[in-house]
Amino acid sequence: MATNITWHENLTHQERSDFLKQKGVTVWLTGLSASGKSTIACALEQSLLARGLNSYRLDGDNVRFGLNKDLGFSEADRNENIRRISEVAKLFNDSCCITLTSFISPYKQDRQLARELHEKDNLPFVEVYVDVPVSVAEERDPKGLYKKAREGLIKEFTGVSAPYEAPESPEIHLKNYEGVSVEDAAQQIIQYLQDKKYI
Ligand code: ADP
Repeated sequence: MATNITWHENLTHQERSDFLKQKGVTVWLTGLSASGKSTIACALEQSLLARGLNSYRLDGDNVRFGLNKDLGFSEADRNENIRRISEVAKLFNDSCCITLTSFISPYKQDRQLARELHEKDNLPFVEVYVDVPVSVAEERDPKGLYKKAREGLIKEFTGVSAPYEAPESPEIHLKNYEGVSVEDAAQQIIQYLQDKKYI
């Protein structure tokens, strides 16, 4: 922890929100690899932008190209990955952006940390469990990752050789299989945001 640093106060979140006429919210998608997080987040982002709302997606693979390029997939690195993303999501949220995150985020403790970081500053946090059974994710497997994990070519792969701790009380539980389309899934989230008057 650095010393000799002082927090610099600026506009309150409410003042910023009044200027921009938009509220900030973090929509935190969690689920197995290939459950549909990125696809749903993309559809949601486009739908929000089309309504004239500022929305931005922080994507699992993408942040590993830059911000988190020094991190791997051990438990400690996954924790750090989520901690940094939580802090970044919080900044986007504070800037009144509808912030969408699509990370497996398999550990309850990490998601709890993300929630607490937001809630201690009164920034809304919506956890969305993108729920599909491992068998469905494995059947989709667009990047061939489950196949590699089964062959032992990828270690610590969530759902195969590393745990996924499902949320017990997410704000939204999305069953993203058995005929649920991507549009249906995105619409369920939009409906929730409208019901809560975030949009
Ligand atoms: P994740 O981001 O969770 O790893 P992706 O968004 O990459 O998952 O989706 C994995 C695959 O599942 C993609 O091929 C995507 O087109 C497909 N998919 C996502 N949602 C659905 C759905 N509701 N029905 C059918 N296929 C879906």
